[in-house]
Amino acid sequence: MVKVRFAPSPTGPFSLGNARTALFNWLFARHEGGQFLLRIEDTDKERSQKKFEKEIINSLIWLGLNWHGSIVYQSQRLEIYKRYLGKLLKEGWAYYCNCSLEMLEAERQAQLSQGLAPKYSGRCRNLNNTSGVIRFKMPAKIISFHDLIRGNIKFDTSLLGDIVIAKSLEEPLYNFAVVVDDWEMGITQVIRGEDHISNTPKQLILQEVLNIKPPKYAHLPLILTPDRKKLSSRFLQKSFGDYKKDGYLAEAMLNFLVLLGWHPVQDREILSLEEMIAEFDLGRVQKAGAVFNQTKLDWLNAYYLRHLEINKLLERLKPFVSSRWLKKKNLLKKVIEIEKERLKSLKDFAQLSQFFFKIKDYPASLLIWENTPSQKIRSNLETVANFIKSKARGELLKPEFEKEIFLLAQKEGRGEILWPLRVALSGKKSSPGPLEIIKTLGKTESLKRINLALKKLKNS
Ligand code: GLU
Repeated sequence: MVKVRFAPSPTGPFSLGNARTALFNWLFARHEGGQFLLRIEDTDKERSQKKFEKEIINSLIWLGLNWHGSIVYQSQRLEIYKRYLGKLLKEGWAYYCNCSLEMLEAERQAQLSQGLAPKYSGRCRNLNNTSGVIRFKMPAKIISFHDLIRGNIKFDTSLLGDIVIAKSLEEPLYNFAVVVDDWEMGITQVIRGEDHISNTPKQLILQEVLNIKPPKYAHLPLILTPDRKKLSSRFLQKSFGDYKKDGYLAEAMLNFLVLLGWHPVQDREILSLEEMIAEFDLGRVQKAGAVFNQTKLDWLNAYYLRHLEINKLLERLKPFVSSRWLKKKNLLKKVIEIEKERLKSLKDFAQLSQFFFKIKDYPASLLIWENTPSQKIRSNLETVANFIKSKARGELLKPEFEKEIFLLAQKEGRGEILWPLRVALSGKKSSPGPLEIIKTLGKTESLKRINLALKKLKNS
Protein backbone atom coordinates (compact mmCIF):
# COMPACT_ATOMS: atom_id res chain seq x y z
CA MET A 1 0.00 0.00 0.00
CA VAL A 2 1.17 3.51 -0.78
CA LYS A 3 2.34 5.36 2.33
CA VAL A 4 3.69 8.86 2.14
CA ARG A 5 4.64 11.30 4.81
CA PHE A 6 4.84 15.03 5.28
CA ALA A 7 7.83 15.70 7.51
CA PRO A 8 8.18 19.38 8.41
CA SER A 9 10.66 20.72 10.93
CA PRO A 10 9.04 23.13 13.42
CA THR A 11 12.02 25.47 13.24
CA GLY A 12 10.43 28.36 11.36
CA PRO A 13 7.14 29.67 10.04
CA PHE A 14 5.08 27.20 8.04
CA SER A 15 5.59 28.37 4.47
CA LEU A 16 3.79 28.23 1.16
CA GLY A 17 6.36 25.68 -0.03
CA ASN A 18 5.63 23.49 3.00
CA ALA A 19 1.93 23.67 2.27
CA ARG A 20 2.51 22.70 -1.36
CA THR A 21 4.62 19.68 -0.30
CA ALA A 22 1.91 18.62 2.13
CA LEU A 23 -0.80 18.93 -0.51
CA PHE A 24 1.10 16.97 -3.17
CA ASN A 25 1.74 14.16 -0.68
CA TRP A 26 -1.86 14.16 0.45
CA LEU A 27 -3.22 14.14 -3.12
CA PHE A 28 -0.86 11.37 -4.11
CA ALA A 29 -2.01 9.24 -1.18
CA ARG A 30 -5.67 9.96 -1.90
CA HIS A 31 -5.30 9.22 -5.58
CA GLU A 32 -3.57 5.91 -4.85
CA GLY A 33 -5.89 4.95 -2.02
CA GLY A 34 -2.92 5.02 0.34
CA GLN A 35 -2.01 6.72 3.59
CA PHE A 36 -0.69 10.20 4.34
CA LEU A 37 1.32 10.39 7.56
CA LEU A 38 2.53 13.38 9.51
CA ARG A 39 5.95 13.38 11.12
CA ILE A 40 7.25 16.35 13.05
CA GLU A 41 11.03 16.50 12.70
CA ASP A 42 11.85 18.09 16.02
CA THR A 43 15.23 16.63 16.88
CA ASP A 44 16.87 20.05 16.79
CA LYS A 45 16.09 21.06 20.36
CA GLU A 46 17.43 24.60 20.11
CA ARG A 47 15.54 25.58 16.99
CA SER A 48 12.29 23.62 17.33
CA GLN A 49 9.42 25.62 18.80
CA LYS A 50 5.92 24.67 19.91
CA LYS A 51 4.44 27.71 18.19
CA PHE A 52 5.78 26.56 14.80
CA GLU A 53 4.46 23.08 15.43
CA LYS A 54 1.02 24.55 16.14
CA GLU A 55 1.22 26.52 12.93
CA ILE A 56 1.90 23.36 10.94
CA ILE A 57 -0.99 21.51 12.50
CA ASN A 58 -3.44 24.42 12.22
CA SER A 59 -2.54 25.01 8.60
CA LEU A 60 -3.07 21.35 7.69
CA ILE A 61 -6.40 21.35 9.48
CA TRP A 62 -7.44 24.59 7.79
CA LEU A 63 -6.62 23.14 4.37
CA GLY A 64 -8.38 19.92 5.25
CA LEU A 65 -5.27 17.79 4.72
CA ASN A 66 -6.03 15.16 7.31
CA TRP A 67 -3.33 12.66 8.23
CA HIS A 68 -3.57 9.01 9.08
CA GLY A 69 -3.10 7.90 12.70
CA SER A 70 -1.33 9.96 15.30
CA ILE A 71 1.46 12.43 14.66
CA VAL A 72 4.93 10.92 14.77
CA TYR A 73 7.38 13.03 16.76
CA GLN A 74 11.04 12.38 16.16
CA SER A 75 11.82 13.62 19.66
CA GLN A 76 9.88 10.64 21.00
CA ARG A 77 11.82 8.09 18.97
CA LEU A 78 15.32 8.57 20.32
CA GLU A 79 15.58 4.96 21.46
CA ILE A 80 14.95 3.76 17.93
CA TYR A 81 17.68 5.96 16.45
CA LYS A 82 20.04 4.90 19.20
CA ARG A 83 19.57 1.28 18.24
CA TYR A 84 20.47 1.99 14.62
CA LEU A 85 23.41 4.19 15.61
CA GLY A 86 24.66 1.40 17.86
CA LYS A 87 24.48 -1.02 14.96
CA LEU A 88 26.46 1.29 12.66
CA LEU A 89 29.10 1.85 15.34
CA LYS A 90 29.38 -1.85 16.07
CA GLU A 91 29.72 -2.78 12.46
CA GLY A 92 32.37 -0.15 11.90
CA TRP A 93 30.23 2.02 9.62
CA ALA A 94 30.32 4.87 12.07
CA TYR A 95 32.86 6.32 14.47
CA TYR A 96 33.22 9.03 17.09
CA CYS A 97 34.99 12.17 16.04
CA ASN A 98 36.28 14.76 18.50
CA CYS A 99 37.94 17.20 16.16
CA SER A 100 37.43 20.72 17.49
CA LEU A 101 35.45 23.26 15.52
CA GLU A 102 38.63 25.29 15.09
CA MET A 103 40.45 22.34 13.59
CA LEU A 104 37.59 21.64 11.22
CA GLU A 105 37.43 25.25 10.17
CA ALA A 106 41.17 25.42 9.51
CA GLU A 107 40.88 22.27 7.43
CA ARG A 108 38.01 23.78 5.46
CA GLN A 109 39.87 26.99 4.77
CA ALA A 110 42.95 25.08 3.61
CA GLN A 111 40.86 23.05 1.18
CA LEU A 112 39.06 26.13 -0.11
CA SER A 113 42.34 27.96 -0.69
CA GLN A 114 43.51 25.01 -2.82
CA GLY A 115 40.32 25.29 -4.83
CA LEU A 116 38.92 22.04 -3.40
CA ALA A 117 35.34 21.40 -2.32
CA PRO A 118 35.53 21.16 1.48
CA LYS A 119 34.92 17.83 3.17
CA TYR A 120 36.04 16.17 6.36
CA SER A 121 39.54 14.72 6.07
CA GLY A 122 38.68 11.57 8.00
CA ARG A 123 41.25 12.23 10.70
CA CYS A 124 39.32 10.35 13.42
CA ARG A 125 38.29 7.45 11.18
CA ASN A 126 40.72 4.95 12.70
CA LEU A 127 41.31 6.44 16.13
CA ASN A 128 38.76 4.38 18.05
CA ASN A 129 37.49 7.42 19.97
CA THR A 130 34.79 6.74 22.53
CA SER A 131 33.15 10.16 22.51
CA GLY A 132 32.37 13.07 20.23
CA VAL A 133 30.02 13.45 17.31
CA ILE A 134 29.17 10.37 15.30
CA ARG A 135 30.36 10.27 11.71
CA PHE A 136 29.44 7.90 8.96
CA LYS A 137 32.28 6.16 7.13
CA MET A 138 31.25 7.22 3.67
CA PRO A 139 32.14 4.60 1.10
CA ALA A 140 33.32 6.11 -2.19
CA LYS A 141 31.00 5.11 -4.98
CA ILE A 142 28.61 6.36 -7.61
CA ILE A 143 25.05 6.35 -6.34
CA SER A 144 22.27 6.57 -8.87
CA PHE A 145 18.54 6.68 -8.42
CA HIS A 146 15.43 7.24 -10.45
CA ASP A 147 13.55 10.33 -9.37
CA LEU A 148 9.85 10.04 -10.21
CA ILE A 149 9.85 13.62 -11.48
CA ARG A 150 13.39 14.34 -12.57
CA GLY A 151 14.43 10.98 -14.00
CA ASN A 152 17.84 9.38 -13.42
CA ILE A 153 20.22 11.14 -11.10
CA LYS A 154 23.82 10.16 -10.38
CA PHE A 155 25.99 11.24 -7.55
CA ASP A 156 29.60 10.62 -6.53
CA THR A 157 29.67 10.04 -2.78
CA SER A 158 33.41 10.60 -2.56
CA LEU A 159 32.55 14.30 -2.73
CA LEU A 160 30.72 14.07 0.56
CA GLY A 161 33.32 12.90 3.02
CA ASP A 162 32.38 11.33 6.36
CA ILE A 163 29.23 13.22 7.27
CA VAL A 164 28.09 13.71 10.86
CA ILE A 165 24.96 11.64 11.42
CA ALA A 166 24.44 12.36 15.13
CA LYS A 167 25.73 14.80 17.69
CA SER A 168 25.63 11.95 20.20
CA LEU A 169 23.76 8.67 20.65
CA GLU A 170 20.76 10.70 21.84
CA GLU A 171 20.94 13.39 19.19
CA PRO A 172 20.54 12.05 15.67
CA LEU A 173 20.75 14.46 12.74
CA TYR A 174 18.38 14.87 9.85
CA ASN A 175 19.80 12.57 7.16
CA PHE A 176 20.13 9.69 9.55
CA ALA A 177 16.83 10.08 11.41
CA VAL A 178 14.93 10.36 8.12
CA VAL A 179 16.37 7.09 6.86
CA VAL A 180 15.39 5.27 10.04
CA ASP A 181 11.91 6.78 10.14
CA ASP A 182 11.02 6.35 6.50
CA TRP A 183 11.94 2.70 6.90
CA GLU A 184 10.28 2.10 10.26
CA MET A 185 7.13 3.88 9.12
CA GLY A 186 6.96 1.88 5.91
CA ILE A 187 7.13 4.91 3.62
CA THR A 188 6.87 3.92 -0.05
CA GLN A 189 7.35 7.32 -1.74
CA VAL A 190 9.19 10.35 -0.46
CA ILE A 191 7.77 13.48 -2.07
CA ARG A 192 9.61 16.65 -1.03
CA GLY A 193 11.14 19.88 -2.26
CA GLU A 194 13.98 19.96 -4.72
CA ASP A 195 16.19 21.52 -2.06
CA HIS A 196 16.48 18.01 -0.60
CA ILE A 197 17.87 16.42 -3.74
CA SER A 198 21.45 16.66 -2.46
CA ASN A 199 20.42 14.77 0.69
CA THR A 200 19.08 11.83 -1.26
CA PRO A 201 22.46 10.18 -2.03
CA LYS A 202 23.36 10.42 1.67
CA GLN A 203 20.13 8.73 2.58
CA LEU A 204 20.50 6.08 -0.10
CA ILE A 205 23.95 5.11 1.03
CA LEU A 206 22.86 4.89 4.65
CA GLN A 207 19.98 2.66 3.55
CA GLU A 208 22.44 0.49 1.67
CA VAL A 209 24.70 -0.19 4.64
CA LEU A 210 21.70 -0.65 6.94
CA ASN A 211 20.26 -3.11 4.49
CA ILE A 212 17.08 -1.10 4.13
CA LYS A 213 14.97 -1.06 1.00
CA PRO A 214 14.82 2.56 -0.17
CA PRO A 215 11.52 4.30 -0.87
CA LYS A 216 10.99 5.93 -4.26
CA TYR A 217 11.86 9.61 -4.45
CA ALA A 218 10.10 12.53 -6.10
CA HIS A 219 11.53 16.04 -5.83
CA LEU A 220 9.13 18.89 -6.41
CA PRO A 221 10.25 21.97 -8.37
CA LEU A 222 11.31 25.08 -6.53
CA ILE A 223 8.84 27.89 -6.16
CA LEU A 224 10.11 31.01 -7.91
CA THR A 225 9.25 34.67 -7.65
CA PRO A 226 7.72 36.32 -10.74
CA ASP A 227 11.21 37.43 -11.82
CA ARG A 228 12.21 33.76 -11.69
CA LYS A 229 14.41 34.07 -8.64
CA LYS A 230 14.29 31.46 -5.93
CA LEU A 231 11.30 32.35 -3.75
CA SER A 232 12.78 35.15 -1.74
CA SER A 233 12.94 35.16 2.01
CA ARG A 234 10.21 37.80 2.07
CA PHE A 235 7.84 35.20 0.65
CA LEU A 236 9.30 32.39 2.69
CA GLN A 237 9.07 34.43 5.84
CA LYS A 238 5.41 35.11 5.22
CA SER A 239 3.89 32.40 7.28
CA PHE A 240 1.19 30.39 5.60
CA GLY A 241 -1.19 31.32 8.40
CA ASP A 242 -1.02 34.92 7.18
CA TYR A 243 -2.92 33.98 4.04
CA LYS A 244 -5.78 32.95 6.27
CA LYS A 245 -5.50 36.18 8.23
CA ASP A 246 -5.45 38.15 5.00
CA GLY A 247 -8.79 36.67 4.05
CA TYR A 248 -7.92 33.93 1.59
CA LEU A 249 -10.21 30.92 1.45
CA ALA A 250 -8.77 27.46 2.00
CA GLU A 251 -10.30 26.26 -1.28
CA ALA A 252 -8.58 29.06 -3.18
CA MET A 253 -5.26 28.24 -1.50
CA LEU A 254 -5.59 24.56 -2.38
CA ASN A 255 -6.37 25.38 -5.98
CA PHE A 256 -3.46 27.83 -6.11
CA LEU A 257 -1.02 25.39 -4.48
CA VAL A 258 -1.87 22.48 -6.74
CA LEU A 259 -0.95 24.57 -9.78
CA LEU A 260 2.47 25.36 -8.36
CA GLY A 261 4.30 22.74 -10.35
CA TRP A 262 1.45 20.53 -11.51
CA HIS A 263 -1.26 21.02 -14.06
CA PRO A 264 -4.19 18.92 -15.15
CA VAL A 265 -4.98 17.92 -18.71
CA GLN A 266 -6.21 20.83 -20.81
CA ASP A 267 -4.58 23.28 -18.43
CA ARG A 268 -7.78 23.96 -16.52
CA GLU A 269 -7.32 26.54 -13.79
CA ILE A 270 -10.27 25.84 -11.52
CA LEU A 271 -10.22 22.47 -9.82
CA SER A 272 -12.31 21.12 -7.01
CA LEU A 273 -10.61 18.93 -4.44
CA GLU A 274 -12.36 15.89 -5.91
CA GLU A 275 -10.98 16.69 -9.33
CA MET A 276 -7.50 17.16 -7.92
CA ILE A 277 -7.66 13.77 -6.21
CA ALA A 278 -8.94 12.07 -9.33
CA GLU A 279 -6.36 13.63 -11.62
CA PHE A 280 -3.23 14.09 -9.54
CA ASP A 281 -0.29 12.28 -11.01
CA LEU A 282 3.42 12.75 -10.32
CA GLY A 283 4.05 12.27 -14.03
CA ARG A 284 2.45 15.66 -14.64
CA VAL A 285 4.63 17.49 -12.13
CA GLN A 286 7.01 19.78 -14.00
CA LYS A 287 10.78 19.89 -13.55
CA ALA A 288 11.07 23.63 -14.12
CA GLY A 289 10.54 26.04 -11.26
CA ALA A 290 6.96 27.00 -10.46
CA VAL A 291 6.34 30.73 -10.57
CA PHE A 292 4.39 32.33 -7.73
CA ASN A 293 1.72 34.57 -9.23
CA GLN A 294 -0.08 36.85 -6.79
CA THR A 295 -2.60 38.00 -9.41
CA LYS A 296 -3.66 34.43 -10.01
CA LEU A 297 -4.05 33.80 -6.30
CA ASP A 298 -6.29 36.87 -5.97
CA TRP A 299 -8.27 35.84 -9.02
CA LEU A 300 -8.83 32.37 -7.60
CA ASN A 301 -9.84 33.79 -4.25
CA ALA A 302 -12.38 36.12 -5.87
CA TYR A 303 -13.71 33.18 -7.87
CA TYR A 304 -14.26 31.01 -4.81
CA LEU A 305 -15.75 33.90 -2.85
CA ARG A 306 -18.23 34.56 -5.65
CA HIS A 307 -19.27 30.94 -5.73
CA LEU A 308 -19.73 30.47 -2.02
CA GLU A 309 -23.30 30.12 -0.85
CA ILE A 310 -24.45 33.12 1.24
CA ASN A 311 -24.72 31.32 4.59
CA LYS A 312 -21.34 29.71 4.14
CA LEU A 313 -19.80 33.02 3.19
CA LEU A 314 -21.37 34.55 6.28
CA GLU A 315 -19.71 31.88 8.42
CA ARG A 316 -16.31 32.58 6.87
CA LEU A 317 -16.74 36.32 7.29
CA LYS A 318 -17.46 36.09 11.01
CA PRO A 319 -13.87 36.56 12.18
CA PHE A 320 -13.50 39.57 9.89
CA VAL A 321 -16.49 41.70 10.92
CA SER A 322 -17.50 43.41 14.12
CA SER A 323 -19.93 41.77 16.50
CA ARG A 324 -22.31 44.70 15.98
CA TRP A 325 -22.70 43.70 12.34
CA LEU A 326 -23.30 40.09 13.29
CA LYS A 327 -26.27 41.19 15.35
CA LYS A 328 -27.88 42.72 12.26
CA LYS A 329 -27.96 39.42 10.47
CA ASN A 330 -30.60 40.28 7.88
CA LEU A 331 -28.85 43.42 6.79
CA LEU A 332 -25.53 41.60 6.82
CA LYS A 333 -26.87 38.91 4.52
CA LYS A 334 -28.23 41.46 2.06
CA VAL A 335 -24.91 43.28 2.08
CA ILE A 336 -23.01 40.05 1.45
CA GLU A 337 -25.30 39.35 -1.48
CA ILE A 338 -24.43 42.72 -3.01
CA GLU A 339 -20.71 42.80 -2.27
CA LYS A 340 -19.96 39.18 -3.07
CA GLU A 341 -19.22 39.90 -6.72
CA ARG A 342 -16.67 42.56 -5.87
CA LEU A 343 -14.91 40.78 -3.07
CA LYS A 344 -11.23 39.91 -3.43
CA SER A 345 -10.75 38.62 0.08
CA LEU A 346 -12.72 38.09 3.27
CA LYS A 347 -10.72 40.91 4.76
CA ASP A 348 -11.93 43.32 2.04
CA PHE A 349 -15.49 42.91 3.11
CA ALA A 350 -15.42 45.06 6.23
CA GLN A 351 -13.92 47.99 4.39
CA LEU A 352 -16.19 47.69 1.36
CA SER A 353 -19.34 47.32 3.43
CA GLN A 354 -18.70 49.63 6.32
CA PHE A 355 -21.02 52.33 4.94
CA PHE A 356 -24.06 50.07 5.03
CA PHE A 357 -23.81 49.94 8.81
CA LYS A 358 -22.64 53.45 9.46
CA ILE A 359 -22.06 56.23 7.00
CA LYS A 360 -18.79 58.10 7.42
CA ASP A 361 -18.70 61.86 7.25
CA TYR A 362 -17.91 63.21 3.76
CA PRO A 363 -17.54 66.71 2.32
CA ALA A 364 -20.54 68.33 0.59
CA SER A 365 -18.36 68.81 -2.49
CA LEU A 366 -18.36 65.06 -3.06
CA LEU A 367 -22.06 65.28 -3.90
CA ILE A 368 -21.41 67.53 -6.90
CA TRP A 369 -21.35 65.87 -10.30
CA GLU A 370 -18.80 67.53 -12.59
CA ASN A 371 -19.80 71.18 -13.10
CA THR A 372 -23.43 70.87 -12.13
CA PRO A 373 -24.48 73.78 -9.89
CA SER A 374 -25.08 72.81 -6.29
CA GLN A 375 -28.61 74.20 -6.56
CA LYS A 376 -29.44 71.72 -9.29
CA ILE A 377 -27.97 68.79 -7.34
CA ARG A 378 -30.10 69.81 -4.38
CA SER A 379 -33.30 69.94 -6.35
CA ASN A 380 -32.50 66.60 -7.98
CA LEU A 381 -31.95 64.97 -4.61
CA GLU A 382 -35.17 66.51 -3.35
CA THR A 383 -37.05 65.09 -6.30
CA VAL A 384 -35.65 61.63 -5.59
CA ALA A 385 -36.42 61.96 -1.89
CA ASN A 386 -40.04 62.91 -2.60
CA PHE A 387 -40.31 60.11 -5.02
CA ILE A 388 -39.07 57.59 -2.45
CA LYS A 389 -41.38 59.06 0.15
CA SER A 390 -44.36 58.53 -2.15
CA LYS A 391 -43.67 54.81 -2.36
CA ALA A 392 -44.68 52.07 0.00
CA ARG A 393 -41.73 50.15 1.41
CA GLY A 394 -42.32 47.05 -0.68
CA GLU A 395 -42.48 49.09 -3.88
CA LEU A 396 -38.84 50.06 -3.52
CA LEU A 397 -37.90 46.46 -4.17
CA LYS A 398 -39.81 46.23 -7.43
CA PRO A 399 -38.30 46.63 -10.92
CA GLU A 400 -40.83 49.41 -11.65
CA PHE A 401 -39.20 51.62 -9.05
CA GLU A 402 -35.84 51.08 -10.69
CA LYS A 403 -37.29 51.94 -14.10
CA GLU A 404 -38.85 55.12 -12.83
CA ILE A 405 -35.58 56.30 -11.32
CA PHE A 406 -33.82 55.60 -14.58
CA LEU A 407 -36.46 57.56 -16.50
CA LEU A 408 -35.84 60.44 -14.17
CA ALA A 409 -32.12 60.05 -14.74
CA GLN A 410 -32.69 60.15 -18.48
CA LYS A 411 -34.60 63.36 -18.16
CA GLU A 412 -32.28 65.17 -15.73
CA GLY A 413 -29.00 63.54 -16.72
CA ARG A 414 -27.57 60.28 -15.37
CA GLY A 415 -24.65 61.83 -13.55
CA GLU A 416 -26.78 64.63 -12.19
CA ILE A 417 -29.19 62.19 -10.55
CA LEU A 418 -27.29 58.98 -9.85
CA TRP A 419 -23.97 60.45 -8.68
CA PRO A 420 -25.31 62.55 -5.80
CA LEU A 421 -27.70 59.77 -4.90
CA ARG A 422 -24.85 57.28 -4.64
CA VAL A 423 -22.75 59.64 -2.55
CA ALA A 424 -25.69 60.51 -0.31
CA LEU A 425 -26.35 56.84 0.33
CA SER A 426 -22.79 55.61 0.69
CA GLY A 427 -20.60 58.62 1.43
CA LYS A 428 -18.23 57.16 -1.15
CA LYS A 429 -17.12 57.69 -4.73
CA SER A 430 -17.41 54.04 -5.59
CA SER A 431 -19.92 51.62 -4.23
CA PRO A 432 -22.59 49.27 -5.52
CA GLY A 433 -25.33 51.03 -7.53
CA PRO A 434 -27.57 53.46 -5.58
CA LEU A 435 -30.70 51.43 -6.23
CA GLU A 436 -29.15 48.34 -4.75
CA ILE A 437 -28.19 50.35 -1.72
CA ILE A 438 -31.75 51.68 -1.33
CA LYS A 439 -33.10 48.15 -1.48
CA THR A 440 -30.65 47.04 1.17
CA LEU A 441 -30.96 50.00 3.53
CA GLY A 442 -34.73 50.32 3.21
CA LYS A 443 -36.93 53.38 2.98
CA THR A 444 -36.31 55.06 6.34
CA GLU A 445 -32.53 54.83 6.39
CA SER A 446 -32.23 55.82 2.71
CA LEU A 447 -34.34 58.93 3.29
CA LYS A 448 -32.37 59.79 6.38
CA ARG A 449 -29.15 59.71 4.39
CA ILE A 450 -30.55 61.78 1.52
CA ASN A 451 -31.78 64.38 3.99
CA LEU A 452 -28.34 64.51 5.55
CA ALA A 453 -26.91 65.20 2.08
CA LEU A 454 -29.46 67.95 1.50
CA LYS A 455 -28.49 69.55 4.77
CA LYS A 456 -24.84 69.44 3.81
CA LEU A 457 -25.59 71.13 0.49
CA LYS A 458 -27.67 73.79 2.14
CA ASN A 459 -24.87 74.62 4.56
CA SER A 460 -22.11 74.59 2.00
N1 GLU B 1 12.27 18.06 7.85
C1 GLU B 1 12.58 18.28 6.48
C2 GLU B 1 12.16 19.67 6.08
O1 GLU B 1 11.35 20.27 6.76
C3 GLU B 1 11.86 17.30 5.61
C4 GLU B 1 12.75 16.54 4.76
C5 GLU B 1 12.13 15.39 4.05
O2 GLU B 1 10.98 15.49 3.61
O3 GLU B 1 12.84 14.40 3.93
O4 GLU B 1 12.62 20.19 5.11
